[in-house]
Amino acid sequence: MSIFPQLNIPETLAAGPGPGNTDARVLARFAQSGLADHMQADVLRGMIECKKMLRTVWGTNNTYTYGVGGTGFSGLDCMLGALLPGDTVVAFVNGTFSGLDGLTIRMKAATREELKANPMDPQPASVTIVTVPHGQSVTGEIIEKTLAAKQPKWAFMAHWETGSGRINDLRGFSDACERHDIMGLVDAVSSLGIEDFSIDDYPGVVGWASCPQKGVLCLPLTYAPVSFTDRYIAEVKSNGCHSYVHHPILEARHWGIVDGQDVAAGSYHRTHSGYAVAAFHEALRITLQHGRARRAADYAMHEAALRAAVTAMGCKVTSNMTSLVVLNLPDALAGREKELVQNCRAKGFGIWPTLSEPVQVRIGILNQLSVPAITDIAMRFAAAMQYLGGEVDISKVQAALDQHYQTALAAE
Ligand SMILES: *Cc1c(COP(=O)(O)O)cnc(C)c1O
Repeated sequence: MSIFPQLNIPETLAAGPGPGNTDARVLARFAQSGLADHMQADVLRGMIECKKMLRTVWGTNNTYTYGVGGTGFSGLDCMLGALLPGDTVVAFVNGTFSGLDGLTIRMKAATREELKANPMDPQPASVTIVTVPHGQSVTGEIIEKTLAAKQPKWAFMAHWETGSGRINDLRGFSDACERHDIMGLVDAVSSLGIEDFSIDDYPGVVGWASCPQKGVLCLPLTYAPVSFTDRYIAEVKSNGCHSYVHHPILEARHWGIVDGQDVAAGSYHRTHSGYAVAAFHEALRITLQHGRARRAADYAMHEAALRAAVTAMGCKVTSNMTSLVVLNLPDALAGREKELVQNCRAKGFGIWPTLSEPVQVRIGILNQLSVPAITDIAMRFAAAMQYLGGEVDISKVQAALDQHYQTALAAE
């Protein structure tokens, strides 16, 4: 038996698609909470307060709005739990994450025979995967065309596809689902807490799932926010779900949601952590104190600054999300994306390549909403390009940042 030395993890600059650097206030709540079990009164009260704040963050009156313990894929697993073998589904895929969601959907909707035929990558006849090329958005036209032709029971799309940095047409998706009486499901992992939107404005979508570590900024493994309409819950109530732990109705009990109603205190579902509840509670308070509209505007302004800076370095940006830039390096450095990213990561500057083809560089700004923070990210990236022999004129980069911020801050 070996006992290893204490594990020390350094503080890095997490400048990727996620996770974002956790606010010190969130970490303080995590570390300063006392030990209290999952049925202690303040833990239960904290969960009820989180539920209420989450409804504001999502912009919804859906009673079934709460957090699923775990990561983004835990919330997605809960949301996709309503899909049963043989269900007809159309899923729009335009990058790594919607691709993995598509795999989840195929696993859940496959019949027993279809799963056995290809257990790790089933291809059920009832599921249609519509693949939109990397770097492009899912448009209202392709959604309408496919849903009109297929008339499935369910449709799925990622709101913001973090793999390629693209925003998909949520309005088009919701409208097409309504028009054809299809139940829409949306992966809002990357947009919640960044974009200013209210899910009640999208009635074609019955299920939503997000994550703790991107816009909500609560990495200390806490809760993946989900929200379900009454129609979705009625569907689960009448047909069931093959999971106890990620059951959309049973999970809600601990958050004080029983039989479609808010009740005074939650009842046991599984052992929630008071530390996690306190951290999540603080993260939601920070989000609401910042204000959804203000936060969205700040992300847009700082993303545009970083975009201007990397463009001045000769890079080509292909994304349109406001928390992330996805870019191609200048021709002279093409093919060296992974090497550049590795060099940065070795220095504690945590940027990312794309996880599926083509290889691009992803630089994120989660919780880096200040002029010095964006300047630091831009200058570290410029230095990494220079280190590989790239020609970067630092004064031009600084001028691009200065010009952007002068105009943007003057407009406020
Ligand atoms: C990050 C991400 C996920 C996965 O979230 P985890 O927290 O890693 O489980 C899923 N979908 C999208 C769109 C994402 O950006």
